[in-house]
Amino acid sequence: MNEADSRALAASLELRGYQATDNPAEADWVILNTCVVRHSAEQRALSRLQTLAELKKRRPAMRIALMGCLVGVRPSPDLARRFPFVDVFLPPSDTTRLLQRLDLERGAFDPTEENTSTCHRMASTPPPAPVVYIPAVLGCSHACTYCIIPYRRGAERSRPRADILRDVRAAAERDAREVMLLGQIVDRYGADRPGEGDLADLLRDTAQTPGIVRIRFLTSHPSYLNDRIIRAVAESPKICPVFELPIQAGNNEVLAAMRRGYTREAYLAMLDRIRSLVPHAAIHTDIIVGFPGETEAQFQDTVEIVRRAAFAKVHLAMYSPRPQTYAARHLPDDVPPEEKKRRHRLLEELQKDIQARRNAALKGQCVDVLVDGRDEKRGRWQGRTVDDRLVFFTSSRARPGDLISVRIEWTGPFTLIGADAVETEKQSGGLSPAAL
Ligand code: SAH
Repeated sequence: MNEADSRALAASLELRGYQATDNPAEADWVILNTCVVRHSAEQRALSRLQTLAELKKRRPAMRIALMGCLVGVRPSPDLARRFPFVDVFLPPSDTTRLLQRLDLERGAFDPTEENTSTCHRMASTPPPAPVVYIPAVLGCSHACTYCIIPYRRGAERSRPRADILRDVRAAAERDAREVMLLGQIVDRYGADRPGEGDLADLLRDTAQTPGIVRIRFLTSHPSYLNDRIIRAVAESPKICPVFELPIQAGNNEVLAAMRRGYTREAYLAMLDRIRSLVPHAAIHTDIIVGFPGETEAQFQDTVEIVRRAAFAKVHLAMYSPRPQTYAARHLPDDVPPEEKKRRHRLLEELQKDIQARRNAALKGQCVDVLVDGRDEKRGRWQGRTVDDRLVFFTSSRARPGDLISVRIEWTGPFTLIGADAVETEKQSGGLSPAAL
């Protein structure tokens, strides 16, 4: 969601003639988008902000916008006191304050050649982005006891379907091939907008958009993902068979203390349901280790699920208390850091083996890869398979946005490496084993 917010703001700035730079020391404006979902993320944001403050001391003309969850939807009045060097504070997904200010300042400028060249040179047309992120549901009202997001991104609200589809069409006109529809619980799309349709409708409409070849959606919640959504995935080849379905913990007492609203049995039943309708689905999950009070036996319930669920990806986090949350206020953070690390490592190793095995099955096979960029250092392209595996490959004809059939030559737990299948076939002068 932060990535979506950052890119949307970058696009608005480019439209106004601003040009991006990799070097903050030469920027007129530096915009720092921030995540605070874990303590470590917040620390990272604060240290970046400190670096920018130093930079500004040396170059007072530089201006700083602070954006995202460090600011929050109801910015605390003491932000300005804590960060006096920040010129503009922007809540998540809301860039109006910065854009209005820039437009005002620009209006006051004399738009001579000189001014435009020093202050906001016309950006060259930005390269087309093959993958675009489009928010469908903003905020979250679920209030899991560990989670700060509802406090910083505000209550759940679905965007009007017409607005989302307009964004999808605009992206397609700028050569996007893949759309990622976003929400903290994206399955709840439309729940607050009677008559607007649900996520299944939105996915099907998005799939109708000319030019769009792949659609992803995240994040799902086991209590709200449903047959209509799963069937939409099963029935439309454009909707990628990937489900981001956080379990967070495999033990029912821990799940209740987290206020997730489902049991391990319900979660496992949902996995079965997905796999019965979408047999090759890639299922990703999120897990928090070391939630307050989590015992070794309770942790083992999570291990057992990871062992048997065959997840395609697991996002692991060590619990950290976040301000305002129920857990931070009422539940002592009593699992020692060393123990959290041990649990984290154990799951990491276990899942790594599962992924290594899962990817090894693709060795020698051809997979369709949507090219999304280039790894210049190693002279190879990169992209993703329909089920979201990262592939690096050589090709002399690939361009961002192309769908290229790649023969997989090497596999690891996190990546696949291969070569353009059409080109390798030509070289070997015959059909490949997989094609036969
Ligand atoms: N609604 C999204 C939440 C995104 S936050 C979802 O359900 O996936 C991404 C992940 O951060 C969460 O799934 C959770 O695993 C992790 N997380 C959230 N709060 C945390 C905390 N206090 N400590 C550690 N990890 C946390």
